Amino acid sequence: MSVLVYTESENGKFKKTAFEVASYAKELADQLGTSVTAISINAENTNELGSYGVEKVLNVSNDQLNDFNAKAYASTIKQAAEKENSTAVVISSSADSKFISPILSVYLNAGYASNVVALPESTAPFRVKRAAFTNKAFNVTEINTDVKLIGLSKNSFGIKENSGAANEESFSPELDDANFTSKVTAVDKAVGTVTIADAEVVVSGGRGLKGPENWGLIEDLAQTLGAATACSKPVSDLGWRPHSEHVGQTGKPVASNLYIAIGISGAIQHLAGINSSKVKVVINNDAEAPFFKAADYGVVGDAFEVVPQLIEKLKEFKAQNA
Ligand SMILES: Cc1cc2nc3c(=O)[nH]c(=O)nc-3n(C[C@H](O)[C@H](O)[C@H](O)COP(=O)(O)OP(=O)(O)OC[C@H]3O[C@@H](n4cnc5c(N)ncnc54)[C@H](O)[C@@H]3O)c2cc1C
Repeated sequence: MSVLVYTESENGKFKKTAFEVASYAKELADQLGTSVTAISINAENTNELGSYGVEKVLNVSNDQLNDFNAKAYASTIKQAAEKENSTAVVISSSADSKFISPILSVYLNAGYASNVVALPESTAPFRVKRAAFTNKAFNVTEINTDVKLIGLSKNSFGIKENSGAANEESFSPELDDANFTSKVTAVDKAVGTVTIADAEVVVSGGRGLKGPENWGLIEDLAQTLGAATACSKPVSDLGWRPHSEHVGQTGKPVASNLYIAIGISGAIQHLAGINSSKVKVVINNDAEAPFFKAADYGVVGDAFEVVPQLIEKLKEFKAQNA
């Protein structure tokens, strides 16, 4: 018996969420009186996982898995869970993992709880707290199957370092054509230095910016902070920014540490997508804008005056602390 954790990577490097799910898996394993095994697919430096409580890593190195494929990845994780006789499998709530999870849940006959935000409040029966209604409520879900599949909500648990080293073992899952009924044939990545999904800081602009010609302001602030840029739905609908930047209920979810909203009113559909961000800052010239009720910090002011001053101060701060 063990807890299995799927540690996601991109281009060989672990994503930050990999360390968060590993940290969670370690504490879950302590609760269950067992240890943590990680399954990693085409990742380098897998020994890093030892620092987050992983005792064993099953290393998959397979060119067929270079591009994401939900069925093949689910089959790989299933075979690892069976090999390790795992009664709990922990996975992130990234877009890819949310593709994998329902398939894996069927493969393992496992009850699946998505958007889990805490360790189980009880393990027999197995009950976990989950975010619901786009983070506006919580529910407690009981999983009654032998194998439990837990999708951890990003930024809900944090990364906890442990001293330890992981034993590494190579693992070759059996995959056949049935696992590759669809496959990626080309990848067209959104341009930009930081992707919204992985960004620690996101600078987002709304219709208050008046037009695409003013986006230099958003880009300058983002560059100063090493942030990703995002926008509200009307901004991408108007063609001011690409759709890949649209965040909200019908756009991308954002779970950054810091989300700065500039000239965005704070409509419920926008807030639904950014609720998981830790600290929200709003800059808006209308003190009655609904965003102020959802924000941790707010500046009532004209973006065209406030943002250049903010950039200047940040640059000064960076220069003094370089
Ligand atoms: C089914 C459905 C799904 C939707 N999904 C999404 C979604 O996923 N994401 C999303 O964003 N929206 C979504 N919307 C649209 C949403 O309801 C709002 O219309 C939208 O979020 C408003 O965008 P905005 O805040 O940029 O623009 P506006 O509502 O026009 O707000 C602009 C803000 O800028 C401020 N402002 C103006 N000038 C300045 C200035 N000089 N300095 C500072 N502030 C200034 C104004 O005070 C105002 O608060 C959806 C709507 C529906 C019906």
